[in-house]
Amino acid sequence: MAISTLSRKLLWGRAASHCAMPSCRRTLAHQSGLNGDAVLIGEEAHIVAKSPDGPRGESPLSPEQRDEYSNLILLCPTDHALIDKAPEDFSVGFLLDMKAKHEAWVKGTLGAASNPADEKWAALVDDLTARLSLDTWHKDVSAVLSGGEASMSVSTEERLRACLHWIATRPWPKGHDDLRQLIETIGHLINELLSTFSQHSDRDRLGARLRFKAFYKIPVWDDDLYASLLSEYKEGRQYLADLVLELTRYVNLFSDVVRDELDPEFRDEEGYATLIIEGDILRFDTYVPRFTQEEASVISKSLNPFQDFAKHRSARAPRFSW
Ligand SMILES: [Zn+2]
Repeated sequence: MAISTLSRKLLWGRAASHCAMPSCRRTLAHQSGLNGDAVLIGEEAHIVAKSPDGPRGESPLSPEQRDEYSNLILLCPTDHALIDKAPEDFSVGFLLDMKAKHEAWVKGTLGAASNPADEKWAALVDDLTARLSLDTWHKDVSAVLSGGEASMSVSTEERLRACLHWIATRPWPKGHDDLRQLIETIGHLINELLSTFSQHSDRDRLGARLRFKAFYKIPVWDDDLYASLLSEYKEGRQYLADLVLELTRYVNLFSDVVRDELDPEFRDEEGYATLIIEGDILRFDTYVPRFTQEEASVISKSLNPFQDFAKHRSARAPRFSW
């Protein structure tokens, strides 16, 4: 469990990137003159500690609640060290009060520091991350690329279908047009993946997995029909593999853009989405499919990135062929 994008956005926005200790209030974001990058020195301090044996850690709060905005306070590194080393002087009630007063001070003196559209975006990013189940991505979709039978669990298929519906029906907040286009392309790719897969799939005996059928295996021998079905099957497998790789590249590009625009620490702990590909016998290789910088810049200028996928898919690397 990590701090969500929404919690981080609320914390930094409502504190206006200033330390909440009233005797300090130093600014915690520095715009580097050299390359314009923001250097952040603020620390997202836990009011009730992350773990029960930490400072102010004894509490009925669940691990998830401990990482929420309501239990975090933005401080400079020195004041963070101070409240954690002298927890008897900085109780939960004291810190909550300090945070509320700081946010009121921000409102009164700096005006509205938070950006409601960005807060909505942050909530949507958290929601999409959960719906795509990025933490289990490699387990959920790698089997579509399997060297043997391509398959997908029924629960993954249902979850992706629900995610697709969610993307298609979202009222997007203002701003971040590039992020919106990325998410819409992710939706197109999921749609294409599910509809391609379902054309030739059936359930296994337990009904828990969908399998892409070897539909070239015909009951009555016919050379020509066999050859044409086999080539259709191979093309289908190739297309599915290209789709899963492209979708994973898009998911990882989405993470990069969220880090650039909304949350510099987005999925720092979890890292990129991966795929596990069967190598030689009993060998499995982990891949992190990502676009090259050049590919990403072509995508950002494209009017219809999903259409471009058909043009570019054979040139992408890595690619797995049947
Ligand atoms: Zn401070």
